Amino acid sequence: MARHIEPVCRLCRREGEKLFLKGSRCMSSKCAIERRAFHPGQHGPNVRARRNKASDFSMQLREKQKMRRIYGVLEKQFRRYFGMAAKTRGVTGSELIVLLERRLDNVIYRMGFAVSRAAARQVVAHAHLDINGHPIDVASYLVKPGDKITVRDVSRKLIYFKTLAGDKDVPAVPAWLHADRGTLTGTVNALPKREDIDVPLKEQLVVEYYSR
Ligand code: SF4
Repeated sequence: MARHIEPVCRLCRREGEKLFLKGSRCMSSKCAIERRAFHPGQHGPNVRARRNKASDFSMQLREKQKMRRIYGVLEKQFRRYFGMAAKTRGVTGSELIVLLERRLDNVIYRMGFAVSRAAARQVVAHAHLDINGHPIDVASYLVKPGDKITVRDVSRKLIYFKTLAGDKDVPAVPAWLHADRGTLTGTVNALPKREDIDVPLKEQLVVEYYSR
């Protein structure tokens, strides 16, 4: 499985804003954006001056990269999601975000069973989950209404899951999901709508990028 191996804080610095890829560290003073708010690399501090003159293409590209990086999806798969979104009847940009939001790793993160989407991917890949009673280890699985997600009995004994219940510092679970961190179970109530998804993305720019 292809994966991104560069330090993820460089991705935030490249986009010039917090993408919240590292859980609680993102809220602390250790965040790289707080300490070095300029592009990574040898010429990083000089790049800021050029950003004001961004072309349309540059803005579209950056928005696409930002969306990809927030959800941790590589280019080939991301393009596939765009193709799927373009074939639906709805607004392509909104459908694209809804598809990304339905990924199992994102759902685990939203339910508070992991501190970041990357950590959620580990939870899924290490086969700690059952969906509707069946084991699943595919992070790109797209959840559907009625799916019941449970942490497997053998995995509940792990310290990682035991400490989850006591962790108060987690974001609220969105209305389209239900999660019980005490019993480590969750349900997908409905498919999300764009307005339910609180990611600061301009999806129209991504559509324009792929429509060139
Ligand atoms: Fe981005 Fe989080 Fe790293 Fe800050 S700590 S740069 S928000 S990944």
